[in-house]
Amino acid sequence: MKIHRLNDPIYTSNVYLIEAERPVLVDTGGTLKDQIQSWVPQILGKRKLSQIVFTHGHLDHIQEAEELAKLFEVPFFIHKDDLENLPAAAVLSTILDCGDAQFEVIHTPGHSPGGVSFYERVKKILICGDTIFPGGRVGRWDLPGSNYADLLNSVTRLNQLQVSELYPGHYPPLTTRVRTHLMASLDTLYVVGALFDDAKYDARIEAQAAKLTL
Ligand SMILES: [Zn+2]
Repeated sequence: MKIHRLNDPIYTSNVYLIEAERPVLVDTGGTLKDQIQSWVPQILGKRKLSQIVFTHGHLDHIQEAEELAKLFEVPFFIHKDDLENLPAAAVLSTILDCGDAQFEVIHTPGHSPGGVSFYERVKKILICGDTIFPGGRVGRWDLPGSNYADLLNSVTRLNQLQVSELYPGHYPPLTTRVRTHLMASLDTLYVVGALFDDAKYDARIEAQAAKLTL
């Protein structure tokens, strides 16, 4: 199994292709439809995509979802609590079956009500959407549907997992010192507090930058 990444140049969001026995596309970004259409078959060759899943229902991750699902002739899934953003989707189950890799679907609300993370326990791989980013960053908790207490709970639970590779919804993936970054994200939430404040958040990220170079 291998994970490939495309980065949306406008929205900075990541699209991942899990190249496995049952290949899965995670998120569709905002402006990448044409690129995804050629990128996926380039990697998969004769193998077919099995499904598209979404980490959450924000526009920079789900735009062009329906067009791409139609193009690849696959179903697409989102958590029920974000279904209102993508009503044509089906509801995610608790396991994402990629054949030679099994991802647990962990509900991680806070940034959005239906945020999820995909966790492969054997390979210690975590695809975490906009819940955690490298560098002590976390998803914003001041958007409609966001909730600080939920986010704190989600980031705390993700900190309890063994993770050697982190694939976030924005910023590059991490393959070293993942634990340090996960703990830094939890720290950021505690330091900034329930009331989201850009200046306080930025100052916190800057203060951690020296020990968390990307
Ligand atoms: Zn988001």
